[in-house]
Amino acid sequence: MTDPSSAPHPRVSEISTLVIGGGIVGTCLGGFLAGEGDDVAVIDAGWPAGSIANAGSIHVQMQSQFMSDYPQYIPRLERSLNLYRQAVPFWKRFQDDLGVDCELRITGGLMIAEDRRQLDFLSKKCRREVELGLDVAILTRPELAKLAPYLGPAVIGAEFCPAEGKVNPLLANTAIRRWANGRGAVLLHEEPVLRLELEGKAFRATTSRGIIRAGRVALAAGFASKDLAAQLSIELPAEADPLHMNITEGTTPFIGHLVQHADRPITLKQLGGGQVVIGGGWPAGLGTPGTIPIVKLSSIIGNVSLAQHIIPQIAQLRIIRTWAGINTFVDGCGILGRIDAVPGLFFAIPGSAGYTLGPLSARLVADCILGRDPSEDISACSVDRFSAP
Ligand SMILES: Cc1cc2nc3c(=O)[nH]c(=O)nc-3n(C[C@H](O)[C@H](O)[C@H](O)COP(=O)(O)OP(=O)(O)OC[C@H]3O[C@@H](n4cnc5c(N)ncnc54)[C@H](O)[C@@H]3O)c2cc1C
Repeated sequence: MTDPSSAPHPRVSEISTLVIGGGIVGTCLGGFLAGEGDDVAVIDAGWPAGSIANAGSIHVQMQSQFMSDYPQYIPRLERSLNLYRQAVPFWKRFQDDLGVDCELRITGGLMIAEDRRQLDFLSKKCRREVELGLDVAILTRPELAKLAPYLGPAVIGAEFCPAEGKVNPLLANTAIRRWANGRGAVLLHEEPVLRLELEGKAFRATTSRGIIRAGRVALAAGFASKDLAAQLSIELPAEADPLHMNITEGTTPFIGHLVQHADRPITLKQLGGGQVVIGGGWPAGLGTPGTIPIVKLSSIIGNVSLAQHIIPQIAQLRIIRTWAGINTFVDGCGILGRIDAVPGLFFAIPGSAGYTLGPLSARLVADCILGRDPSEDISACSVDRFSAP
């Protein structure tokens, strides 16, 4: 079966639901809606985004660096913790529905510490997460030596979360597009929405190829949703966050977990082919709108140096590719669901680890669109929080 994005471009002028943004969230949303009989099109600009650039980490525990950098957002992060926890079993069921092995492996995640201060931070975080119902534990150096012998001598302890893991986004993105297309969602690619307006009780989207009228619109365009929402006079503080990635040549599997750092930007894991994916949030430069973000030499060097410091064996591997993608930064929580002020408009913007949350977020928003109560509490993700006094 061919990838739908290589098929001739379909034309749509009127549709029941228009999903703007065809990353993991928008494409899953289109698939869920179409599977329940909705007449839905997913339109995508083909611009650099998170889903085509991400590291494939399946995150659950709270990101300690985010907590240190943005302590004011910790309450939001805590309120979205349950979604992260539910996102993992959802991904497992979803992969079954896709019928493709996307290399989803839940083998646990380690957030490592190199000094007492970092370990104390993790211990406090761990206690709070246990209170919030998460299965996490602090591991000592001797315990780590047994569980993760590949970690270097700099590591003195770690927080372990068994629910974490990894997925291969290259496999998953292709499988999700095919699945959504196979369920009847129309996938429009390389077609940016230039203008979004209300027309009576419906919506009128002006795209690079014409006009599309829709009864309902879901904004799933990541940070670009901000500009689209502004056209409907809605303030949406979703910002572009360009991030760096590296990948090594393939080697024998030796890193058994998702590895992160308590205090520094790094994530590490091995794909099925043995390549080590090195990410974690080193900065990239933002190009002009719609263009590829700019790789920074300092991020290549910093990211790779830190990786081999934590896992010395990485020093023997060659880096085969470096790239940058654009994440969406909000406030530790996604923006999901309806908005009272504009009936028919929905938001589908996941939290910062939005590849982990993607399929579940889409399911929850699909339920809102179909007039059902979503299976998880998404009140913390309401867009109304930005206009509340
Ligand atoms: C380098 C990097 C590494 C990451 N690593 C991880 C990770 O390991 N684990 C994790 O869980 N998350 C990770 N993330 C975050 C994750 O990738 C994103 O949160 C997630 O992919 C967001 O999915 P999305 O569908 O909401 O948006 P996106 O994937 O950003 O897609 C938005 C889409 O909207 C389209 N669009 C924009 N404007 C318009 C318009 N006007 N008209 C039509 N279409 C438009 C774009 O073309 C784009 O395809 C990472 C992100 C980056 C950048």
